This record gives sequence, structure tokens and C-alpha cells, in this order.
Amino acid sequence: MLDPTKIIRAALITARQLPNPRSNQRNNQRFDEGYAKGGDVEPDTMDQGAAAPAASMPSMPVPSTDDTVNLAKQTLAARPRFSIKSAGTAPASAEQMGDYQFTKLDFGKANTNTLRAAFDKALDRHLSLPEGERIANSRAAIRALEPHMGRRKNGTPIALLSQNAKLLKAQTGTKDKEPLMLDDGRGVETIGLSLYPDYREGDLKLCPNSASCRSQCLGKTSGQYSQAFTEATEKAGSVTARQRAMNRTKAMVRDPEAFAVRLWDDIESARREAERNGNHLGVRLNTLSDLHPSIHKKLIESQPDVSFYDYTKMAYQPVADNHHYTHSSTGLSQEGVNNPYTNWPKMRKMLDRGDNVAMVFSGSKVLPKVVHDQETGKRYNVVDGKSHDFRPLDIQPEGADGVIVGLTNLKSTGKRSQAHMDSEGFFVHYDPKKHGDTVPVIPQKKKED
Ligand code: SF4
Repeated sequence: MLDPTKIIRAALITARQLPNPRSNQRNNQRFDEGYAKGGDVEPDTMDQGAAAPAASMPSMPVPSTDDTVNLAKQTLAARPRFSIKSAGTAPASAEQMGDYQFTKLDFGKANTNTLRAAFDKALDRHLSLPEGERIANSRAAIRALEPHMGRRKNGTPIALLSQNAKLLKAQTGTKDKEPLMLDDGRGVETIGLSLYPDYREGDLKLCPNSASCRSQCLGKTSGQYSQAFTEATEKAGSVTARQRAMNRTKAMVRDPEAFAVRLWDDIESARREAERNGNHLGVRLNTLSDLHPSIHKKLIESQPDVSFYDYTKMAYQPVADNHHYTHSSTGLSQEGVNNPYTNWPKMRKMLDRGDNVAMVFSGSKVLPKVVHDQETGKRYNVVDGKSHDFRPLDIQPEGADGVIVGLTNLKSTGKRSQAHMDSEGFFVHYDPKKHGDTVPVIPQKKKED
């Protein structure tokens, strides 16, 4: 799930950088239409071949988008409490399962249940192997993913995880802020997995609640992601960031077991590197997606010394005590603007149960101190969410309300005073002269309910 600030920054960068907007728009649209139908993603032959291994996999009910309200009402008594582990906590092992080949999924067979089952099976086996066999298994996983991922020009395999400017802030700091430091003296390194945003195939939706954001998503509109991949770019041998995201996505949905092994290895490698640097590792598995956490549960549990964190537009619950979510506001209806996608009633429930909510305000620098819900009279504190991305540090004491993680409008065009109207309420209007330090929330029309 994407940091909402990035959506807006992305639109700007796109406007500045596209050499031929109309041409690119056509290419993007053609591509999106193609991948939505499955045409550009896989040839028709992907529907043929061996019987899908998914058929024999155990099934588990998966919440739909509409279930988010029910999930939000769940009691939180049994929910794991997030904690950052001390250095040296060893990865978990699992029972020996014996030999088998990495199973593949035919086109249309990937969904939350089949991916979860494949990840669980692959990790159980991988973590049970003696060191030498585990190395061989890692090599086999690289070979299995190569048809999707390719290799670097120097022949080395391409890692699944990467960094970007926001992720780097925790490690490097900014001109106003020092690098992050945990209470035990360790710094923080963060890394993320970027899949193809809003990818759909059969029952699988990488972003199940994307109506408000898919058209502006960073993963299609930012500078490096704005260039769609076409026959021309492929012939020219160029691999765009967008194509790399699609390659990773295809690797996951076609070869989920090999993908899970490779992902675990990449995380383990980054964890060891961070440890050598005297740092703690944070991982975002949904930098450009919003996958159900059951897919990653075993992976997260098997790396207890790593903090996994994401933004989500769903009502997902953390699956382990090293797993953390920040919920994403889709903005507000305010004076002069009716936001058709406002999710404030749901966000209010999240705040009341102690979860944090990311919200983007209209100014470029200044954040309010408080958001005041006029319907209930409750006041929610705002914390600065722009200086780094490692959101677990925003966690509030047990029993306290959650906080608004304030993000600012980095748009370089348009009037800040009009941003809330120009964005249909995605930017929350904040004028210090008019509002002081408190943004009021008027009763919202509950279209979503
Ligand atoms: S389309 Fe997906 S990745 Fe993009 S902003 Fe929406 S939820 Fe986030």
C-alpha cells in the first residue's frame, strides 16, 4: 500500500518528465487494458498445460473488501502487540518435509489462498534444510525465477527487494533530522518489495480497495514508473521500473514457492547486513500493493528480528508481534468539497482502537497538531510522518487512541489553497490562519457504508 504523499508527488513528477504525454498515456492505457485481460501478462498458452497445483491446496476464507467493516469491529484482545526485538534473535526453523519440486500456478490460479499455501509450503521446506541443501535450494529458486526476472548484465541474479528515497530516510536522515536511532542504540535500515500496483488476475487483486487511488498511483505515474513497457521498449532492450515490477509480480503469481524462498533469502541477507552495520532491519512487503497478510505470515514469523510494516486501505490485522500497519485515509469531505471516497468513519474506528492513520494535508510544510471530529467531539493528535518511513515508531501506549500520521502536499504545481478541491478531498485542507492548530472534521457522507 502506497504512502499517500507519494501518490501526489508522483502525479507531479509525471507531468514534468513525460516527453510525450499523449503517446505515453496511450501506451499505458493499452498496457493496462492488456494486463487486465491477461493478454499482455501471459500468452494464452498459460491457460493450458499441467493441472493447477492450487486444486489440492487447503482453502481458507479470505475477507472481501466489504468485510473490512466486520474486521474493524473485531475484538482486539488476541491481537499481537508490536515489539522491536533485540539484536541476534535467530530466524525460526521448521520441520523437515522431504523432497519436492517447486510447484507453479497456471494463469488465473493465483489468489490469496493459493499464494499463502505455496509460501507456507516453500518456507517450511526451505527452513528445515541443512545448510548445504538450503544453499542448493536457494540456487534452484533463482533458476526457477530467471524466466520472469532475468539476470543483471554481469550475470548476477536480480534481487526482489529494493530501496527508494523515502525508505532511505530512516537510515540517512534528512537535512532537518538525524538518522533514526532505537532506544538500544541501533540505527534502522529499511527495504521494500515493489509489485505491480492494482494487478488483477482471476480472483487475485493486489490492491483490493483501490477505487480512490488507482488512477494516480505512484506505481504507474511517477517518473521512473511512468514509462509503460511496450513492444518498442522491449525491442530496444530497455527494462523500465514498471516492467521490473511486473516481472516480480509474474514471478510471484507463476512461481510462488520459488518466489517465497528467494524473498526469504533476500530478507535474510539484508538482515545480516543491517546487523553487521549495528542496525535493525525494517521491511515493507507491500510498497506498491496491499496483499492479505496471511500470505506473508510464515515469512514474518520466521524473521522475528526484522520489523515488517505497511500502509493499508483494508482493515487488516497484524499477524505477528513484529508486524505493523498504518491505515490510509482517503481524505475528507470539507467545506467546499464532497469527497466521494472518504473513509473517515472507518479511520475513526481505527484511531479509537489505538491504530494510526496516515492523512495528507494541503500545505507543503505545516501540519496541524490536532484533528477534531465534530460528530463525536473526539480530538486526535497529529504526528510528523514526513521525516522518515519507519512507522512502527509511531505506536502509542497500550490503551491510548491512535494518532494521525501527518503527511504534507509535495505538489509543485497548483494552489495549495485549492488542493483539497482539485483532488476531490484527497488533500485535507489545512490553513493555519483559519484553523489555528486544529482541523475540524464535519460529519461525512457515508457512501462507503
Ligand atoms: S493502487 Fe495500490 S499501491 Fe497504488 S496507491 Fe492504491 S492501494 Fe496503493
